[in-house]
Amino acid sequence: MRYLPMFRRIRHQHCLVVGGGDIAFRKVTMLLRAGAEIAVIAPKISAPLRDLGDAGKVSLRQRQFVPEDIANQALVVSATGQTNIDELVATTARQAAIPVNVVDNPDISDFIFPAIIDRDPMVVAVSTGGAAPVLAREIRSAIEALLPSSLGNLIRDAEKRRTTVKRRLVSVTERRRFWTHYFHGWRTATLTAKPMLQVSDGDVLLECTAQNQSGHVAIVGAGPGDADLLTLRALQHLQVADAIIYDRLVGPGVLDYARRDAERIDVGKAPGKHSHSQTEINALLAHHAARGKHVVRLKGGDPFIFGRGGEEQAYLRSRGISVEIVPGITASLGCAASAGIPLTHRGLSQAVTLLTGTSANELAAHDWPYLVKSRATLAIYMGLGTASILSQALIEADMRSDMPVAIIENGTLASQRIFTGRLDQIEKLLTTNAVEAPALLIIGNVVAQGHISKHAKASQVLAVAS
Ligand code: SAH
Repeated sequence: MRYLPMFRRIRHQHCLVVGGGDIAFRKVTMLLRAGAEIAVIAPKISAPLRDLGDAGKVSLRQRQFVPEDIANQALVVSATGQTNIDELVATTARQAAIPVNVVDNPDISDFIFPAIIDRDPMVVAVSTGGAAPVLAREIRSAIEALLPSSLGNLIRDAEKRRTTVKRRLVSVTERRRFWTHYFHGWRTATLTAKPMLQVSDGDVLLECTAQNQSGHVAIVGAGPGDADLLTLRALQHLQVADAIIYDRLVGPGVLDYARRDAERIDVGKAPGKHSHSQTEINALLAHHAARGKHVVRLKGGDPFIFGRGGEEQAYLRSRGISVEIVPGITASLGCAASAGIPLTHRGLSQAVTLLTGTSANELAAHDWPYLVKSRATLAIYMGLGTASILSQALIEADMRSDMPVAIIENGTLASQRIFTGRLDQIEKLLTTNAVEAPALLIIGNVVAQGHISKHAKASQVLAVAS
């Protein structure tokens, strides 16, 4: 190993930072988080550092560094960007046997700052020994995604119980067993924000909370298709899931992120296959939750946008099953982004309305004149079957017949296709291009702002009706 990994206490100890720029500021911030008493020395001191000085958080000395400044310091950081000064600071510190870090110069540093993941009180530090700091940061991001932000709370909760556990469980083996139990499933616990085990005051020391027995359902938005558009929380749930009950609209790559042992149940309405009714899906969710499983109900887009997430939530809650909703990027946002169409745009559209084109297999009953008057961009879900009567209804309600329209099929997926044209051409666009579900319609002046060809991937076929 090039360096000895260790965690050094510097709370209330004197630390010296030489340099007054951005990098010095970043090191000062880090030292402050660990509670150091910091002095900053530099002839020029940047505004953010000056603000810290004014707030009494650091002491500022606006002048050149002199070797005497090293006295009584626990740590020294040099971030001047000037080789001669950095070297002087390093040599002086080394003579006084005080550990020194020279930013971007591991050769004359005694210690280096790792890339960190902060889940206070837990900290993960990553270092390539100064060989590839950019890689260290990439690895930091990968680990960051795996550790829920509430992990710190779990650890603090455990810390509060330490004394009780120690008092109640005398043998080290027993204690170790308790803590192993306690942290088993820490991922689930941090996601559901519930302690897994409690130390009771009676003779029984380990007591499972209700959560372990009654299970938990996370209704998770899987985003519009491209697996990269999953949220970190969706990913975390997929990685701890015991059972995943998913819809047809869930993108093909999304399930690759799921825990390998998770049971996968397809309840999608694929043509020709038995599709599950909402009642069956509800029963399935309750059945798996009742067995104490961590159930993930995975839905395309966002569960609360035309996703029946509300019905599932109400059903599960009425049965006393704990439910959590994890939002996802809804189709209209994903499609608009990949077509480069801003859904609102200064001077063109001050609002966006998400609406369904279909209700009970017919054109949904909307207040068409109101929608036209609102001048909002319209993002229409489930609108393929009713597109031509829908466009007629808008034109009859006084929308321009040449209002720009975009049709986005398989938005955000490699198979995505985008077609643009006029409102009165919707039908022609759909039939000549044989557009299939899922597809989203965007109607409004903003469509003309789209950077469709610029954003389209090579695999995307484009057609613009003239
Ligand atoms: N809850 C989902 C919507 C479900 S309704 C969400 O928030 O996105 C199903 C409709 O969503 C489809 O008929 C289609 O209009 C739209 N849709 C879903 N995924 C899509 C995609 N990848 N591309 C285009 N439209 C999509």
